[in-house]
Amino acid sequence: MSITIGKIFDLAVQKFPDKEAIFDVRKNVRLTYKEWDHEVNKLANAFVQAGVKKGDRVSTFLFNTEELASTMLACAKIGAIFNPINFRLGTEEVAYILEDAQPKIVVMEQALDHVISQIANRFGEISFWKINGEPSSYAASFQDKVASASDRVVDSDVLESDIYAIMYTSGTTGRPKGVVHLHREMAEQSLIVIAATRLEAYDVGLVTAPMFHCAELHCAVIPRIHVGASNVILHHFEPKKVLQLIQEEKVTKFFAAPTMWNMLLQENLNAYNLESLKLGLYGAAPMAPALVRACHEQLGISLVQAYGMTEMGPAITFLSEKDQLTKAGSAGQACLNHEIRIVRPNENGPSDPDDMMPAGEAGEIIVKGPCMMKGYFNREEASQHSMHKGWYHSGDIGYLDEEGFLWVKDRVDDMIISGGENIYPREVEDVLYEHKGILDIAVVGLPDDSWGETVTAFVVKKDPSLTEEELDQWCQSSARLARYKRPRKYMFVDALPRNASGKIQKFVLRKQMEEIYTGEKAST
Ligand code: ATP
Repeated sequence: MSITIGKIFDLAVQKFPDKEAIFDVRKNVRLTYKEWDHEVNKLANAFVQAGVKKGDRVSTFLFNTEELASTMLACAKIGAIFNPINFRLGTEEVAYILEDAQPKIVVMEQALDHVISQIANRFGEISFWKINGEPSSYAASFQDKVASASDRVVDSDVLESDIYAIMYTSGTTGRPKGVVHLHREMAEQSLIVIAATRLEAYDVGLVTAPMFHCAELHCAVIPRIHVGASNVILHHFEPKKVLQLIQEEKVTKFFAAPTMWNMLLQENLNAYNLESLKLGLYGAAPMAPALVRACHEQLGISLVQAYGMTEMGPAITFLSEKDQLTKAGSAGQACLNHEIRIVRPNENGPSDPDDMMPAGEAGEIIVKGPCMMKGYFNREEASQHSMHKGWYHSGDIGYLDEEGFLWVKDRVDDMIISGGENIYPREVEDVLYEHKGILDIAVVGLPDDSWGETVTAFVVKKDPSLTEEELDQWCQSSARLARYKRPRKYMFVDALPRNASGKIQKFVLRKQMEEIYTGEKAST
């Protein structure tokens, strides 16, 4: 038997036909597994009727909705390749992905019409299906297409070695690249997540992070379908609504990016009954140990951290519940069936997988495992570079301790070199984050004539009276921060630029400051 994502769903439908599978909060629609299967079959037939064949791409440009998950499952059933597009992208970024992926159909949101309407005429060969709102000159009604389709079970010859999806990276280090994953890789990833988060059929999961991103889709939504648990889908993250839904739907587990956990903690938690909540999963970006501790203390739940990247499915390590406090700051141990190495970084090409660093010494994190991507879509050279000698080269710097726990220091590109010394911004951020007056923080290197780069901290204040002197004093008194790592400059800002998966876009901060810096130099 070929274990595809479609097969995983079919088996859950057979096992739990009358169990609630999905609750779309915005639409106020609840579907059992049997009812959902009916909807997915109709959609799959609608795609076939529209000419979609095995290997064709179907994109979504949607917020968190049942239709996004249904499109993913319908594609899986007919062997079409699912391509979820980040709803926060601008016109040209979306156009870039459509040109690259060349989908047959884009299932889109009425509220995102302002993006698609500007580029639709460039893509005459693509059919746009709008999930709500009136059809327009270029977009048909999704509901009409589905209503007229048959609900018969689709015949399929999809194999686990077929492509399941192309997911574009968020492009924090350049142009987005389409990561190609096979059904087999995602079925493996799902099993790994089920084991690490002890997922069972009784679980109720809340979807709060964007579903187009692999962290939410592969570490939460698909594993829940796999075991027959239910997914409560929240349109977008709203702290009060999250807490209210945990209480009303008796949510047991959910994934949120560090910034979302931080926002939850700012709410009046005593006003909600959060007893049902058993486990929180965090990851996709570094989370300061102080924030992990605060989640433990204030929410009273167990936490599991996942570290990884789209190319690996995404998870490659988990920090288990019991290690959260004793190994705070670490990303945990390699996932089942995964192997991690730390190798000497090579400035002139991919690092050599056999040039390993001793335990405790930092280098590039490389990894091997069953969920590694097939490659980047249309990017042979980049694929070979990233998967040199069968190891995925992450571009992250970290080290393994004596017990095999991974400590991620930073991205190679974010490392600051000041006066010839290497500084990992995360170390500085973790120290500053412990200051009670700080809500959010990002440390970056900015160009400096004498030092090469200077350490600069962008701070969102929690306490409005917070001053630069106070923060400098805080860093001086920290035993964990050598003098040369202390920020030379503090910039107080209202918010930090983040991408949809919650990662701080440091390149935006650097660019802003470089512009100011060049302007200042020109005027002197
Ligand atoms: P790009 O477009 O640059 O390839 P991306 O942001 O789209 O990147 P993702 O796959 O979303 O790529 O993110 C992967 C990166 O996120 C990792 O390489 C790492 O830097 C960071 N990351 C993910 N999880 C964690 C974690 N638990 N702790 C620290 N960093 C993390």
